[in-house]
Amino acid sequence: MSNKKIPRIIGTYTSNKKGPLLFITGGVHGNEHSGVKALQRVFKELEKSKPEIQGSIIGVSGNHKALNKNKRYIDEDLNRTWTKENIENKKMETHEQKEMWEIIKVLKQYPESDFTKRYFLDCHTTSSPSLPYISVQEINDNDKWAHCFPTYIVRGFSDMVYGCIDHYLSRIGLTGFVLEAGQHTDHTSVENHEGVIWLALKEACKLDLTQISSYPECVTRFTDKNAPKQKTFELIHRYGLKDSDEFKMQKGYKNFQKIEKNELLAIKNATQIRSEWNARIFMPLYQKQGNDGFFIIREVD
Ligand SMILES: [Zn+2]
Repeated sequence: MSNKKIPRIIGTYTSNKKGPLLFITGGVHGNEHSGVKALQRVFKELEKSKPEIQGSIIGVSGNHKALNKNKRYIDEDLNRTWTKENIENKKMETHEQKEMWEIIKVLKQYPESDFTKRYFLDCHTTSSPSLPYISVQEINDNDKWAHCFPTYIVRGFSDMVYGCIDHYLSRIGLTGFVLEAGQHTDHTSVENHEGVIWLALKEACKLDLTQISSYPECVTRFTDKNAPKQKTFELIHRYGLKDSDEFKMQKGYKNFQKIEKNELLAIKNATQIRSEWNARIFMPLYQKQGNDGFFIIREVD
Protein backbone atom coordinates (compact mmCIF):
# COMPACT_ATOMS: atom_id res chain seq x y z
CA MET A 1 0.00 0.00 0.00
CA SER A 2 1.29 3.49 -0.80
CA ASN A 3 1.71 6.11 1.90
CA LYS A 4 -0.58 8.49 0.06
CA LYS A 5 -3.65 9.27 2.11
CA ILE A 6 -6.88 8.03 0.60
CA PRO A 7 -9.26 11.01 0.18
CA ARG A 8 -13.02 10.96 0.86
CA ILE A 9 -13.74 11.62 -2.82
CA ILE A 10 -11.73 9.16 -4.87
CA GLY A 11 -12.91 10.67 -8.13
CA THR A 12 -15.76 12.17 -10.10
CA TYR A 13 -16.37 12.17 -13.84
CA THR A 14 -19.05 13.58 -16.13
CA SER A 15 -19.47 14.74 -19.72
CA ASN A 16 -22.11 17.24 -18.55
CA LYS A 17 -24.88 15.30 -20.25
CA LYS A 18 -28.20 14.43 -18.71
CA GLY A 19 -28.34 10.94 -17.27
CA PRO A 20 -28.04 8.85 -14.11
CA LEU A 21 -25.77 9.04 -11.09
CA LEU A 22 -23.46 6.15 -10.23
CA PHE A 23 -22.57 6.45 -6.54
CA ILE A 24 -19.81 3.97 -5.71
CA THR A 25 -18.40 3.29 -2.25
CA GLY A 26 -15.22 1.36 -1.42
CA GLY A 27 -13.70 0.63 1.96
CA VAL A 28 -16.82 0.85 4.11
CA HIS A 29 -14.76 -1.74 5.94
CA GLY A 30 -11.34 -0.12 6.34
CA ASN A 31 -9.41 -3.37 5.84
CA GLU A 32 -10.99 -3.82 2.39
CA HIS A 33 -8.96 -1.74 -0.06
CA SER A 34 -9.99 -3.50 -3.26
CA GLY A 35 -12.90 -1.19 -4.16
CA VAL A 36 -10.78 1.91 -3.56
CA LYS A 37 -8.01 0.56 -5.81
CA ALA A 38 -10.52 -0.29 -8.54
CA LEU A 39 -12.03 3.19 -8.35
CA GLN A 40 -8.56 4.76 -8.59
CA ARG A 41 -7.88 2.71 -11.74
CA VAL A 42 -11.23 3.64 -13.29
CA PHE A 43 -10.88 7.38 -12.66
CA LYS A 44 -7.29 7.40 -13.94
CA GLU A 45 -8.46 5.72 -17.13
CA LEU A 46 -11.48 8.04 -17.51
CA GLU A 47 -9.20 11.07 -17.23
CA LYS A 48 -6.90 9.58 -19.81
CA SER A 49 -9.45 8.40 -22.38
CA LYS A 50 -12.05 11.11 -21.71
CA PRO A 51 -14.98 9.08 -23.09
CA GLU A 52 -18.47 10.51 -23.32
CA ILE A 53 -20.92 9.30 -20.69
CA GLN A 54 -24.45 10.22 -19.73
CA GLY A 55 -24.81 11.49 -16.17
CA SER A 56 -22.07 11.27 -13.55
CA ILE A 57 -19.98 8.80 -11.60
CA ILE A 58 -18.57 9.51 -8.15
CA GLY A 59 -16.28 7.24 -6.14
CA VAL A 60 -16.35 7.68 -2.38
CA SER A 61 -14.23 6.11 0.33
CA GLY A 62 -16.24 4.55 3.13
CA ASN A 63 -14.54 4.39 6.51
CA HIS A 64 -11.99 7.05 5.70
CA LYS A 65 -10.01 6.98 8.95
CA ALA A 66 -10.06 3.17 9.21
CA LEU A 67 -8.96 2.82 5.57
CA ASN A 68 -5.97 5.04 6.20
CA LYS A 69 -5.08 2.94 9.24
CA ASN A 70 -5.87 -0.31 7.41
CA LYS A 71 -8.24 -1.29 10.22
CA ARG A 72 -11.72 -2.70 9.76
CA TYR A 73 -13.24 0.07 11.89
CA ILE A 74 -12.42 2.51 14.69
CA ASP A 75 -15.34 2.25 17.20
CA GLU A 76 -17.93 0.10 15.46
CA ASP A 77 -18.74 -1.47 12.10
CA LEU A 78 -19.66 1.31 9.62
CA ASN A 79 -21.83 -1.24 7.82
CA ARG A 80 -24.16 -1.48 10.85
CA THR A 81 -24.74 2.20 11.61
CA TRP A 82 -27.21 3.03 8.80
CA THR A 83 -30.31 2.20 10.81
CA LYS A 84 -33.53 4.22 10.62
CA GLU A 85 -33.10 5.09 14.31
CA ASN A 86 -29.58 6.47 13.90
CA ILE A 87 -30.62 8.52 10.87
CA GLU A 88 -33.84 9.87 12.40
CA ASN A 89 -32.12 10.73 15.69
CA LYS A 90 -29.13 12.26 13.87
CA LYS A 91 -26.79 10.11 15.97
CA MET A 92 -23.22 11.36 15.87
CA GLU A 93 -21.49 9.74 18.81
CA THR A 94 -19.15 7.04 17.54
CA HIS A 95 -16.46 7.62 14.96
CA GLU A 96 -18.41 5.61 12.39
CA GLN A 97 -21.62 7.57 12.96
CA LYS A 98 -19.66 10.74 12.13
CA GLU A 99 -18.27 9.17 8.95
CA MET A 100 -21.78 8.09 8.02
CA TRP A 101 -22.95 11.71 8.09
CA GLU A 102 -19.98 12.78 6.00
CA ILE A 103 -20.94 10.26 3.32
CA ILE A 104 -24.58 11.39 3.47
CA LYS A 105 -23.38 14.98 2.99
CA VAL A 106 -21.50 13.96 -0.16
CA LEU A 107 -24.55 12.20 -1.58
CA LYS A 108 -26.73 15.25 -0.84
CA GLN A 109 -24.64 17.19 -3.35
CA TYR A 110 -26.06 14.82 -6.01
CA PRO A 111 -29.82 15.11 -5.47
CA GLU A 112 -32.38 12.89 -7.17
CA SER A 113 -33.79 15.88 -9.11
CA ASP A 114 -30.48 16.36 -11.00
CA PHE A 115 -30.49 12.83 -12.45
CA THR A 116 -32.67 10.50 -14.50
CA LYS A 117 -32.00 7.78 -11.90
CA ARG A 118 -29.53 7.14 -9.09
CA TYR A 119 -27.56 3.90 -8.76
CA PHE A 120 -25.20 2.70 -6.05
CA LEU A 121 -22.51 0.05 -5.85
CA ASP A 122 -20.95 -0.86 -2.50
CA CYS A 123 -17.61 -2.68 -2.92
CA HIS A 124 -16.57 -5.31 -0.38
CA THR A 125 -14.25 -8.29 -0.02
CA THR A 126 -14.26 -11.37 2.21
CA SER A 127 -11.76 -12.81 4.70
CA SER A 128 -11.88 -16.27 3.04
CA PRO A 129 -11.31 -16.91 -0.67
CA SER A 130 -14.58 -16.79 -2.63
CA LEU A 131 -15.92 -16.52 -6.12
CA PRO A 132 -17.15 -12.97 -6.72
CA TYR A 133 -20.84 -12.48 -6.04
CA ILE A 134 -23.49 -9.84 -5.86
CA SER A 135 -25.48 -9.58 -2.65
CA VAL A 136 -28.77 -7.93 -3.44
CA GLN A 137 -31.59 -6.64 -1.31
CA GLU A 138 -34.89 -7.39 -2.97
CA ILE A 139 -36.42 -3.94 -2.95
CA ASN A 140 -36.87 -1.29 -5.65
CA ASP A 141 -35.55 -2.68 -8.95
CA ASN A 142 -32.29 -3.84 -7.33
CA ASP A 143 -32.70 -7.44 -8.43
CA LYS A 144 -33.36 -6.57 -12.07
CA TRP A 145 -30.32 -4.27 -12.11
CA ALA A 146 -28.16 -6.96 -10.48
CA HIS A 147 -29.05 -9.33 -13.32
CA CYS A 148 -27.29 -7.00 -15.81
CA PHE A 149 -24.01 -8.34 -14.38
CA PRO A 150 -22.55 -11.75 -15.24
CA THR A 151 -21.72 -13.39 -11.91
CA TYR A 152 -23.39 -15.15 -8.98
CA ILE A 153 -26.26 -13.24 -7.39
CA VAL A 154 -27.36 -13.97 -3.82
CA ARG A 155 -30.80 -12.82 -2.71
CA GLY A 156 -31.89 -12.52 0.88
CA PHE A 157 -28.56 -12.17 2.63
CA SER A 158 -28.44 -8.38 2.48
CA ASP A 159 -32.02 -8.23 3.73
CA MET A 160 -31.03 -9.97 6.93
CA VAL A 161 -28.27 -7.72 8.26
CA TYR A 162 -29.73 -4.50 9.57
CA GLY A 163 -27.94 -1.17 9.34
CA CYS A 164 -25.91 -1.72 6.16
CA ILE A 165 -25.22 1.18 3.82
CA ASP A 166 -27.04 -0.63 0.99
CA HIS A 167 -30.19 -0.65 3.16
CA TYR A 168 -29.96 3.09 3.61
CA LEU A 169 -29.29 3.79 -0.07
CA SER A 170 -32.13 1.49 -1.16
CA ARG A 171 -34.43 3.06 1.43
CA ILE A 172 -33.91 6.55 0.00
CA GLY A 173 -34.64 5.29 -3.52
CA LEU A 174 -31.31 4.40 -5.12
CA THR A 175 -30.98 1.17 -7.10
CA GLY A 176 -27.98 -1.04 -6.48
CA PHE A 177 -26.24 -3.88 -4.71
CA VAL A 178 -23.13 -5.00 -2.85
CA LEU A 179 -20.31 -6.66 -4.75
CA GLU A 180 -18.25 -9.10 -2.71
CA ALA A 181 -15.31 -9.37 -5.08
CA GLY A 182 -13.18 -12.08 -3.47
CA GLN A 183 -10.60 -12.33 -0.70
CA HIS A 184 -9.40 -9.03 0.87
CA THR A 185 -5.87 -8.99 -0.56
CA ASP A 186 -6.37 -11.10 -3.70
CA HIS A 187 -5.53 -9.04 -6.81
CA THR A 188 -8.48 -10.63 -8.63
CA SER A 189 -10.79 -8.79 -6.21
CA VAL A 190 -9.62 -5.47 -7.65
CA GLU A 191 -10.10 -6.85 -11.18
CA ASN A 192 -13.65 -7.86 -10.28
CA HIS A 193 -14.55 -4.53 -8.73
CA GLU A 194 -13.08 -2.74 -11.73
CA GLY A 195 -14.96 -4.95 -14.20
CA VAL A 196 -18.30 -4.34 -12.52
CA ILE A 197 -17.70 -0.56 -12.38
CA TRP A 198 -16.98 -0.46 -16.14
CA LEU A 199 -20.05 -2.58 -16.85
CA ALA A 200 -22.15 -0.27 -14.65
CA LEU A 201 -20.85 2.70 -16.66
CA LYS A 202 -21.86 0.88 -19.84
CA GLU A 203 -25.31 -0.19 -18.60
CA ALA A 204 -26.28 2.99 -16.73
CA CYS A 205 -24.26 5.81 -18.31
CA LYS A 206 -24.17 4.38 -21.87
CA LEU A 207 -20.38 4.38 -21.98
CA ASP A 208 -18.99 2.91 -25.21
CA LEU A 209 -16.35 0.63 -23.67
CA THR A 210 -14.30 0.53 -26.89
CA GLN A 211 -13.27 4.13 -26.11
CA ILE A 212 -11.38 2.88 -23.05
CA SER A 213 -7.68 2.18 -23.67
CA SER A 214 -7.58 -0.77 -21.24
CA TYR A 215 -10.64 -2.41 -22.83
CA PRO A 216 -11.34 -5.34 -23.21
CA GLU A 217 -9.04 -6.59 -20.40
CA CYS A 218 -10.49 -4.16 -17.86
CA VAL A 219 -13.80 -6.03 -18.24
CA THR A 220 -12.84 -9.55 -19.37
CA ARG A 221 -10.54 -10.13 -16.39
CA PHE A 222 -13.80 -10.13 -14.44
CA THR A 223 -16.28 -11.56 -16.95
CA ASP A 224 -14.15 -14.26 -18.62
CA LYS A 225 -11.30 -15.01 -16.22
CA ASN A 226 -12.61 -14.68 -12.63
CA ALA A 227 -16.39 -14.68 -12.46
CA PRO A 228 -18.61 -17.75 -12.55
CA LYS A 229 -21.51 -17.80 -15.03
CA GLN A 230 -24.55 -15.91 -13.79
CA LYS A 231 -26.65 -17.93 -11.37
CA THR A 232 -29.18 -16.74 -8.85
CA PHE A 233 -29.31 -18.08 -5.31
CA GLU A 234 -31.63 -17.49 -2.42
CA LEU A 235 -30.85 -17.82 1.24
CA ILE A 236 -32.82 -20.66 2.84
CA HIS A 237 -31.21 -21.11 6.25
CA ARG A 238 -28.94 -19.44 8.78
CA TYR A 239 -27.20 -21.71 11.25
CA GLY A 240 -26.84 -19.36 14.21
CA LEU A 241 -24.57 -19.78 17.22
CA LYS A 242 -24.64 -18.68 20.82
CA ASP A 243 -21.51 -17.09 22.27
CA SER A 244 -21.09 -20.11 24.54
CA ASP A 245 -21.20 -22.65 21.68
CA GLU A 246 -18.09 -24.58 20.81
CA PHE A 247 -18.26 -24.72 17.02
CA LYS A 248 -15.92 -26.31 14.51
CA MET A 249 -16.69 -26.38 10.83
CA GLN A 250 -15.43 -29.45 8.94
CA LYS A 251 -12.29 -28.53 7.00
CA GLY A 252 -12.21 -27.38 3.41
CA TYR A 253 -15.65 -25.93 2.72
CA LYS A 254 -15.62 -23.13 0.17
CA ASN A 255 -18.26 -20.51 -0.41
CA PHE A 256 -20.95 -21.86 -2.82
CA GLN A 257 -19.76 -25.47 -2.46
CA LYS A 258 -22.48 -28.06 -3.13
CA ILE A 259 -23.56 -30.11 -0.14
CA GLU A 260 -25.81 -33.13 0.20
CA LYS A 261 -28.34 -34.29 2.75
CA ASN A 262 -26.76 -35.97 5.75
CA GLU A 263 -23.27 -34.72 4.98
CA LEU A 264 -21.27 -33.88 8.11
CA LEU A 265 -20.83 -30.11 8.13
CA ALA A 266 -19.60 -29.23 11.59
CA ILE A 267 -19.24 -30.24 15.20
CA LYS A 268 -21.06 -28.18 17.79
CA ASN A 269 -20.62 -28.87 21.51
CA ALA A 270 -19.44 -32.41 20.66
CA THR A 271 -22.54 -33.04 18.50
CA GLN A 272 -22.44 -33.72 14.77
CA ILE A 273 -24.22 -31.17 12.62
CA ARG A 274 -25.41 -32.85 9.43
CA SER A 275 -26.88 -31.24 6.33
CA GLU A 276 -30.67 -31.28 6.00
CA TRP A 277 -30.36 -29.97 2.47
CA ASN A 278 -29.22 -30.76 -1.03
CA ALA A 279 -28.05 -27.23 -1.61
CA ARG A 280 -24.92 -25.10 -1.22
CA ILE A 281 -23.01 -23.82 1.75
CA PHE A 282 -22.48 -20.10 2.10
CA MET A 283 -20.01 -18.26 4.35
CA PRO A 284 -18.87 -21.19 6.50
CA LEU A 285 -17.30 -19.91 9.72
CA TYR A 286 -13.58 -20.62 10.01
CA GLN A 287 -12.69 -17.71 12.26
CA LYS A 288 -12.84 -17.88 16.02
CA GLN A 289 -15.52 -15.26 16.44
CA GLY A 290 -19.00 -14.95 15.02
CA ASN A 291 -22.59 -15.94 15.58
CA ASP A 292 -23.17 -17.28 12.09
CA GLY A 293 -21.96 -20.87 11.80
CA PHE A 294 -22.91 -21.09 8.13
CA PHE A 295 -25.68 -20.26 5.73
CA ILE A 296 -27.48 -22.45 3.23
CA ILE A 297 -28.36 -21.13 -0.21
CA ARG A 298 -30.28 -22.74 -3.05
CA GLU A 299 -30.13 -22.08 -6.77
CA VAL A 300 -33.23 -20.38 -8.13
CA ASP A 301 -34.43 -21.20 -11.63
ZN1 LIG B 1 -16.90 -5.61 3.90
